[in-house]
Amino acid sequence: MMKEETALVVFSGGQDSTTCLFWAKKNFKRVVALSFVYGQKHVKEVELARAIAGKAGVAWDCMDVPLIGALGHNSLTDTSVKMDEEKPEGGPPNTFVPGRNLFFLSIAAVYARERGIRHLVTGVSQTDFSGYPDCRDSFIKSLNVTLNLAMDDQFVIHTPLMWIDKCQTWALADELGVLDIVRHDTMTCYNGVQGDGCGHCPACKLRNEGLHKYLEEKERNIHQ
Ligand code: ZN
Repeated sequence: MMKEETALVVFSGGQDSTTCLFWAKKNFKRVVALSFVYGQKHVKEVELARAIAGKAGVAWDCMDVPLIGALGHNSLTDTSVKMDEEKPEGGPPNTFVPGRNLFFLSIAAVYARERGIRHLVTGVSQTDFSGYPDCRDSFIKSLNVTLNLAMDDQFVIHTPLMWIDKCQTWALADELGVLDIVRHDTMTCYNGVQGDGCGHCPACKLRNEGLHKYLEEKERNIHQ
């Protein structure tokens, strides 16, 4: 049934949402990618997102919501805040943008509703959630209920990466035939370096560890 419908992907142009974009392409008839300019330091990611959507042949749109970055004090939108390299005790790292996924998914739902779309896709993962509370399954399920009540609608939020780790996310990209696109065209790095990234920020560490683990496993399987 999903095959006949349209999905809206919340799309940052990073590893996770790009993998989700191609997952959606495989599982839905039509895909729309929605990106956000929210005051992020590395706004280049939006250009990359548009280019990837073009390569994938899916419709792309962008919402301008600088308010989200301005509301909460964090190192992804405020150049005066030094980025946490490690997760601090007793709270999320300062790369956490408070309310980001709440706002993104809420805006995406309104956008989708206007276009008769009810399937929303997001690349959040509880497995590698870096201490971000809005990447957890309980939050997504709760928001799904809230959105349905808020608009008297029947949205379905899909989270293909929720229970898989970074290594398995690379495996999924490979399975979808887009490992190279995800590896080279996306940007996950908190320092704004495309592809394999700066190598030392927390996002790069997580991404690269997963990639090396996956490539090693793949190599091993080839030689068995
Ligand atoms: Zn980095």
